[in-house]
Amino acid sequence: MMLTDLAVDPRSFDKDKVGYFRYGMVDGRVLMTNDVGEHLFLSPEDFRRFLAGQIGPEDALYEPLRRRYFFKHDFDLDALAVKIRRKKAFLQHGPHLHAVVTTLRCNHACRYCHASRTDMDRVDTDMSLDTARKVVDFAFRSPTPVLGFEFQGGEPTANFPVIQFVCDYALEKNRYENKELLLSLVTNLTLMDDEKMNYLLDKGVMVCTSLDGPADLHDYNRGWTGKTSSYASVTGWMDKFNAEWVRRGFDPDLFHVDALMTTTRASLTRGKEIVDEYVGRGIRSVHIRPLNPFGFAVNTWKQIGYSMDEFLEFYRTTLDHVIALNRQGVFVQERLASLFLTKMLTPDDPNYSDCRSPCGSGSAQLAYNFDGSIYTDDEGRMAAHMGNDFFKLGHVDSSSFDEVLRHPTVKALAVASIQDALPACHSCVYKPTCGVQPLHNYMFDGDIFGQRPLSRKCQEFYGVQKYLYHLLANDADGSVERIFRRWTISRSRPGTTPYAPANEVSS
Ligand code: SF4
Repeated sequence: MMLTDLAVDPRSFDKDKVGYFRYGMVDGRVLMTNDVGEHLFLSPEDFRRFLAGQIGPEDALYEPLRRRYFFKHDFDLDALAVKIRRKKAFLQHGPHLHAVVTTLRCNHACRYCHASRTDMDRVDTDMSLDTARKVVDFAFRSPTPVLGFEFQGGEPTANFPVIQFVCDYALEKNRYENKELLLSLVTNLTLMDDEKMNYLLDKGVMVCTSLDGPADLHDYNRGWTGKTSSYASVTGWMDKFNAEWVRRGFDPDLFHVDALMTTTRASLTRGKEIVDEYVGRGIRSVHIRPLNPFGFAVNTWKQIGYSMDEFLEFYRTTLDHVIALNRQGVFVQERLASLFLTKMLTPDDPNYSDCRSPCGSGSAQLAYNFDGSIYTDDEGRMAAHMGNDFFKLGHVDSSSFDEVLRHPTVKALAVASIQDALPACHSCVYKPTCGVQPLHNYMFDGDIFGQRPLSRKCQEFYGVQKYLYHLLANDADGSVERIFRRWTISRSRPGTTPYAPANEVSS
């Protein structure tokens, strides 16, 4: 958007008073944002007065503008630096999330599978215990105070001995390392049994599964050849895990099986039912995730894909339902909204690797394939399965931690995701709360820089942030903001830290 669109003559600018900010229009009002994550809505007339330096200390708007660092001549530079440092605190640690691909074998054949699965007889795609030990040793070299191992696949429980080994070895090693250790498993739950469940509960491994909605929708998306439907098996195990947490005396609001959904064409008219399915199972966080044309979804796109406009329409109506439930006293949050709202309404950044600037590929997370190859993240590993090893950083047998972290690909991905320097992002009103994922650009456009605003992720993030600001701009009684602020508060599990299924790849 140009200043001339707002009938502003750039020569009328008071350069001594006007600070550094970005702007755009939301519902006829000017939205101003800045790099510390502050925002303010002004009428076009007030915006023109602000630019011309006509808002003085006697004006009611002066204090809101000053407090949010929109004036250049009247702000505390040291306080501003502290705020920016806090927003970018994620830069001060090494990789904290380590995705361990225990096997590529899987008993499902989901229509949208991203994970480059193999059939169940392909035991040659199982990680060995020797490789698992090297993975743990390698991950512990990260200077991060919080260290997370996330088991992925294929279906990771098809190689359960490696899960057990990594948990036992990491817990033992951590007696001396004293990091905050997080263990999590992304599983379709259909190979679960009582022995595995009790082991996972005993070791404090948090479980995240895939649940695409009601039975018919879930089973349509997630085909398998088991005796029962996938839905029946998944929900049966979710209920069993949750009952066992309660039996052991844990707070069910904090200790339960989490779930992720993937939106296919069949989901687009069923947002309300999907959310109700989650709420009915005691899950308080729903992440409305679009389908990515990676892996098998490339071939099935005509059948299950949709345009980003169709997705955003689905997102908005589903979010409206989530808000309506909150108004009725049911606490449930939409996860992508809560990630953006944390950036918009609090001094913090939730450190979500796919929506950061710079992104976290290789610097906040690493993925270890079954054979010990190290990738920037799980999507980098998928790219390798699609024929491009660009995102491979080394191998646990031969690479040092320093070599991996200083790998040219990690640097290239950082450069490609610093939005201050990216065309379109640098002047976008949503830049302070947005992020780019060069790997998505690579998958869609064949280059890590991509083209905004044409890239699918940009369209998604732009559309979601625009809707959140639209809801805030029209929140006359403050009730929406009160709900949104609740979504930004994360309660810690006793004895551990908040669990975030960070990589969110469907198993
Ligand atoms: S990715 Fe798109 S929405 Fe996000 S800052 Fe860049 S241009 Fe704006």
